Amino acid sequence: MVKINALTKTFLYNQELITAVDNISFEVNKNELVLLKGKSGSGKSTILSLIAALSKPTKGTIFINNTQISKLPDSFASEFRNKHIGFIFQKFNLINDLDVKENVLLPLIPQNLDKNLIEQKISKALNLAKISHKKNQLIKKLSGGEQQRVAIARALVTEPSLILADEPTANLDPNLTKNFIEILKDLKKLNKTIILATHDEVFFDLDIVDKIVELEYGKIINVIKS
Ligand code: ADP
Ligand code: MG
Repeated sequence: MVKINALTKTFLYNQELITAVDNISFEVNKNELVLLKGKSGSGKSTILSLIAALSKPTKGTIFINNTQISKLPDSFASEFRNKHIGFIFQKFNLINDLDVKENVLLPLIPQNLDKNLIEQKISKALNLAKISHKKNQLIKKLSGGEQQRVAIARALVTEPSLILADEPTANLDPNLTKNFIEILKDLKKLNKTIILATHDEVFFDLDIVDKIVELEYGKIINVIKS
């Protein structure tokens, strides 16, 4: 499903060359949950944004199914992302002055679907993320855990086959982290493929995890398969 080969990303920062991702290769099969594990600064977010084609590799390739996402021109990359990838950010990136439904609707706008289909897709996503009961509430009136459910619903509304999550529980208390893990289990049942960047210990011995890719200073130092 996702094939990463010899991927490198460097940044020029204050005239210094920073190698955020250093010649890494790994694969994620369909329906797998793969964790990117590593301390802050180890390159996790950079890898996710490369997979989402939000930035371009310095070297190396990324294939998603048979598309070399790393080579797509920007306009095609955003179309591909919109159709196939759902992204759950650490900071939920929701629009505070819109309500739950309006936030979840946003990724569907480029798809020009008819109104009934839009309603159906929104209901489905809100149910999956277990936030239907708050669908008309403004984001700013929700708790952190509820906001995260909205962020999940928004990532799922386009029915992407690949879900990327960047430190999704970093802002949550342990109880809400448990809820998030339940949602991950549901997503696996729906045959989704998930790549999750985290340094939260609770993920590392879950049954549903298929592979842990451990990173340090942009390099893979260990791969654990279960
Ligand atoms: P993680 O998500 O594991 O905390 P990141 O991928 O955010 O790690 O960062 C990896 C390294 O790349 C860090 O040293 C970070 O400072 C650097 N980095 C990330 N993005 C940029 C950028 N846009 N410009 C300069 N340096 C960056
Ligand atoms: Mg990060």
